[in-house]
This record gives sequence, C-alpha cells and structure tokens, in this order.
Amino acid sequence: MRAMTVTKENLHNALQKYFGFDNFKGKQEAIIKSVLNGKDTFVIMPTGGGKSLCYQLPALMLDGTALIISPLIALMKNQVDSIRGYSQNDEVAHFLNSSLTKAQMKLVKQDISDSKTKLLFIAPETLTKDENIEFFKQVDISFVAVDEAHCISEWGHDFRPEYRRIRAMLDAIGEDIPVVALTATATPKVQSDIVKNLGMEGHNTFISSFNRENLYYEVRPKGKKEQTIKQIIQVIKDMPGQSGIIYVQSRKSAEEIAKALSVNDIKAAPYHAGLDAKTRSNTQDNFLMEEVDVIVATIAFGMGIDKPDVRFVIHYDIPKSIENYYQETGRAGRDGLEGRCIAFYAYKDILKLEKFLRDKPVAEREMSAQLMQEVMAYAEATSCRRRFLLHYFGEQFDEDNCSKMCDNCRHPKEKVEVKNEMAIALKAVLQLDENYGIKPLINFVRGKDSKEVKDFGFNQKEFFGAGKEKDSTFWSSVFRQAVLNGLVRKDVESYGLLKMNDKGRAFLEHPHSFKIPIDHNYEKEAVEIEESAKGGAAVLDEALMKMLRDLRRREAKKHNVPPFVIFQDPSLEDMATQYPISMDDMANISGVSKGKAIRYGRPFIQMIKEYVEENEIERPSDLVVKQVANKSKVKINIIQGIDRKVPLEDLAETNQLSMEELMDELYSIVTSGTKVNIDYYIDDNVDEYSREDIVDYFMGAATDSLDDAYRELKDDDITMEEIQLVRIKFLSDMAN
Ligand SMILES: [Zn+2]
Repeated sequence: MRAMTVTKENLHNALQKYFGFDNFKGKQEAIIKSVLNGKDTFVIMPTGGGKSLCYQLPALMLDGTALIISPLIALMKNQVDSIRGYSQNDEVAHFLNSSLTKAQMKLVKQDISDSKTKLLFIAPETLTKDENIEFFKQVDISFVAVDEAHCISEWGHDFRPEYRRIRAMLDAIGEDIPVVALTATATPKVQSDIVKNLGMEGHNTFISSFNRENLYYEVRPKGKKEQTIKQIIQVIKDMPGQSGIIYVQSRKSAEEIAKALSVNDIKAAPYHAGLDAKTRSNTQDNFLMEEVDVIVATIAFGMGIDKPDVRFVIHYDIPKSIENYYQETGRAGRDGLEGRCIAFYAYKDILKLEKFLRDKPVAEREMSAQLMQEVMAYAEATSCRRRFLLHYFGEQFDEDNCSKMCDNCRHPKEKVEVKNEMAIALKAVLQLDENYGIKPLINFVRGKDSKEVKDFGFNQKEFFGAGKEKDSTFWSSVFRQAVLNGLVRKDVESYGLLKMNDKGRAFLEHPHSFKIPIDHNYEKEAVEIEESAKGGAAVLDEALMKMLRDLRRREAKKHNVPPFVIFQDPSLEDMATQYPISMDDMANISGVSKGKAIRYGRPFIQMIKEYVEENEIERPSDLVVKQVANKSKVKINIIQGIDRKVPLEDLAETNQLSMEELMDELYSIVTSGTKVNIDYYIDDNVDEYSREDIVDYFMGAATDSLDDAYRELKDDDITMEEIQLVRIKFLSDMAN
C-alpha cells in the first residue's frame, strides 16, 4: 500500500504551492492526511465546504495518477480547467469520456504513461471498458476518488446504476488501491450503502456538519395560485433588488410565475429544459451579472451556479425529497449572510407527484413514495425544522441552538400533553413486532380496517383502534416525536420500520409527562386563509356601494345606455372593497379593462376619492398585485379566431366547445372588458329587424339577463341564440 509521511509543514507548503491558500477549511487537513496515508476515506461535506480540495491536493502530492470518478460529463471539463488554472501545464489534469476522439484519447493515455498527469476525471461507463481497464493495470494509480458517491445508492436522490459496478472495476485494475468517496448529501441509509458497495473496510469517515445556521427555514400553506404568487411578490418586494431563486415543478409554472413577477416590476426570468441552450446560458449570465434578480426554475437550474449572495430560495412546489430540498435551499446565503428559504406546501402537490410515479417500476415507486413521506413530515412539522433536517442526515441537534432561525422556533406552537397516547404508540410498535413503519402504525391505532389487518388478525389485538378518537395528524405527530426524541428509531436497513430503543422501554416502565406540538394540518389551514381573505381584511362598504349604484344610474342616463353597460355589479362590489382612486387602480378592478376605465371610470374615481377623504378611510394597505392579463388559452384562441373572422361554429369545434359554451366564453370576454367584433357572423345569422328589436330591448332593460330578454322577445320569433349573439355585440360596443 502506498503511504506518505506527512508533516504539518509540508502539507501547508503544498497547499500554498499548488493553490496559494494559507489555511485549510474545516476537516480538510485531517481528510487529506488520511488520503496521503493510503487509507480508504469517506468524506461527507455539504456543498461549499471545499470538498474537491480533499482529493486534488493529495493527487498533486502523490506519485502516479489519481482517478476521479464523476457522473457528470458536462462538469468534467470545468473541473479539469480549474486545476489547470493552478498549474503551469495542461498535462496535469485530463478527462476521459465519450466526448473525446480516438486521437485525443491516445494523447491523454500517453501523458498518463509518461507520469505527467496527476488527475484523470473519468465517467464510470468509460472506466468499465476492457481496453481502459487493461491500460490502468499497467500504469501507476495513486488512489481512486468517487465523487458524488451518493449516486451509488438507490436511496440517494440521483441513483446511477453504473456506479454500483465501480468496486468490481477497481478490483480488476489492481489490489489495494485506496478509495476516497465524497458526497455532499447522505442520509445514514445512503452512507451505509456507499461503504458496503465500495467495500471500504477499516475506512476513516469525516462528516462535516450540515447545519447552515444563516438560513431561515419556513413553510407556508399553499392556497390558490393567485394568492401564493401574491405572497411571493410580497416577499420579494421586502428585499428589493436582491437575488433569489424560485423552484417549480413544471415548465408552465416557471413561465407563468416569471411573467407575473415581471408585470409587477421584478426583474425575473424563467429557466427550464424547454428553453434552448443559448437562452438558458444567457439567463444564467444575466443572473450572475444581476441583470436579472429572480430566476424561476425547474430543478434544471443551479448545478454549477455559484452566486454567493442569493438571498432567498422559494419552493413554489414542494420538492420530491429532503435531499433535493436541502441542496436547493443550500444555494441561498453562501456568503454567510442570511438566506430566506420558504416552501409552499399543499397535500395535493404530493398526490400530483405520486401520480407521476404511477408508470414507474414498483421498487422505484415505493422508494420515491418513502422519500415524499419525509418531505410531508418536514412540511407538517411544528417543531424545529433545522433539527428535523439535520436529524434526517444523521446529525443530532439541540433546537435551542436554532436561534429562532426557523418559523417553528420563532412562532412556537402550544404543546399538548400526550403521556397516555405516547404509551399507546409505543405499545403498538411492540404489539406489531417492530415490523411496521409510521403509516401502518397510525392506521392500526386508529382502528382502520384493511385486508392486511384482517389477514394478520391485527383487529384482534389489544391496541387496535386504541386511539380512534384522534385524527391521523395527531398520531403522526406522536410517532414522529417518538423518533425525534429517540424513544424509537427508524431502522436504516429496512428503511422506516420503527424499532424500540431503551429510552422507549424506560418510558413504558415509568410513563411520565410528555408534551409535544401537534403538526400542521395544512388542508384546514389553507381553507382558513382563503376564507379570511374573502371575508376578513377586505370588507364590502355598503354605504359606498349604494352611492356607486346611484352614480351608475345617473351616468347611464347621461350616456343613454342601461346601467349594466356602465359597470356590472361585481365590478361595483370590487370598487366598494378596494377603493380605487386612480386610473391604474380602476383598471385593476375586476371586469374593468383599461379602455373601460377611461370610458366610464372618471366620475367613479372622483366620487371614491372624495368619499375616502371625507370618511378618513384607510384603503387596503395591502400590496396591489397586478395580474397578468387573465385570459385562458381558450379565450385567447377565441379572440384571435374572431379577429380572423372564423365562423363561430368552427371556432367552437376547434376549441372543443359546444355553441352554448362558446357563447358563455364570449360573454365572459366582453364583460371582463375586452372588445370583440362579431358583426361578420351576426350579419349572416341574425336578420336586421331582429337585431334592432334586441338592441332596443337591452337599451331599456334593467339587467342584461338572457331569460328576461327571451320572455320579452320570444313572441316576435326571436331565438335564444340570436339574443345571445346580439347581447355580446351590444355589450362589446357599448360597455367596452
Ligand atoms: Zn428551529
């Protein structure tokens, strides 16, 4: 086995000589010593901790060539360039992968044979080729570093089957080649997979803390889309001009949210795999150069991005695993200053993710479902989020050290006594022979019947249904807290089965007071938010409403049109809630377009302004969020079709609407303030006399009700369809 005696001096000299640094960070020095001593070494270090130096420096110091196995061909060139940047000559580092020509490969191998190359980056599928194995047998290999080692484990977030063959390849190359495994994320389960799979017996392990104390973690219930976007805009407006990333699951959301932000004067751009490479690289550059402040990205964004002053990371959609969440939030606050991490969570998003899994193989589906269970538990937790995250990565953490840097520590939820229930939970674990995870255990104590329950006779057991008066959120909180407090543990090997700990047995012998916070039930909370948004802050001002109606009547007379042409009732209600006092405010009122605001809005604005001043009314100080012209794709298709004078029947068919539905869409288009000209169709389909009758009727009508019109006009042989058509024309011409 190769080994090198190292002293503190020659290590520091080498660091200075090769990289120009004076000091090592964290555990780097100890790790490098372990590698230089020829020991198998396992390095778990969060991104930004200086992981790559742990193999780069020993590779430069030792004789021979170090093989660096890396999964990402795209990043290999960058890695090679960065090492060459520290060196006088290019031969010091190479990569070997399928992107090279035969001639280039030959040159690389020549440099290795000539002992000029210290680091060779290689993809596992290249390493596995017979001719390469033969070659490596004949040259001097100093050690093998397996980067992104979590790819070995199916339980990691980035499993690559070819990684599982690495050990066999190393054995084929030679005996006793030291292995260094490195990863920036690994749960205890993934760690044990890596060690087993690489056969790293007697290895040294170095785990750096995953705690990012400058990140503030927060989870909010996710309500309706507009409300969530509004909250996001509020967060961003609190930090004007700062950089941030918003993660979403779909390309469509990326586009939509980026647009909503832009409309609200936030410099934002979408980033997803559907954009061409040039656009993507421009967006990335603009973000780094601060031409763009906010990137709305699918998970494709962030690999290799190192912007130190990202101030916030928002998850509009909940990620698929805690590993992803940790990696993505980890892009905030690299400079050590505060980074806000806000995730929006709705249970229905989990269901959506599960739906995507339906066509996957069973094993993968089950694994992903497990990972999502953890995400749910994180989102619904009411105890310290930092403690939860660190516990997930196998680290103990005392929540007193969180310094209120998570929402649950900042706004603690009242705790409830669960002494009796904890005893039931623990006894249930024993009664089912420590053979089940949290979900089936909850069903058991709640007395839920299922085929499995009957087949195994669980319904005959003493604690079946012992806690049926409490809901599953409650029981989930009890079991989670039992794990977090070490009364039981989740078995790493069987992933998720609860096993009893001594602490749990002691509790059962002498039960004592046990207080826990109960998890969030976000379904309920989201509904409550929506209801308070409806009836809470913004209240309809009845007095103003009456004045607006009177004004509408007077204006109608003046313009010689019926009142509903001026503004429809929902628009008046919105005015009596929002108090618009400028043209811009008015154009934000529902059903009022810019054109309509100019045509009919002025006297209303004037009146509301006076009313607000006289009564010293505090207008909703609430941020006014501008809406992206809220038209569905169908509405846009209809408007464009009408511009091209497409017959309405064809328009209905191409948009898969019945004529009835098309009419409804058209009505909603004109009453929300958009003009359409369907004269070309009316001319052919409604005779002139009928047209005049219908217009006359509406001019004198109190409402634009179709039924009222039909009752009045049917004796003149006018059909419902004709009334619908002319009403659209009438509203479009007169109201907009
Ligand atoms: Zn906390």
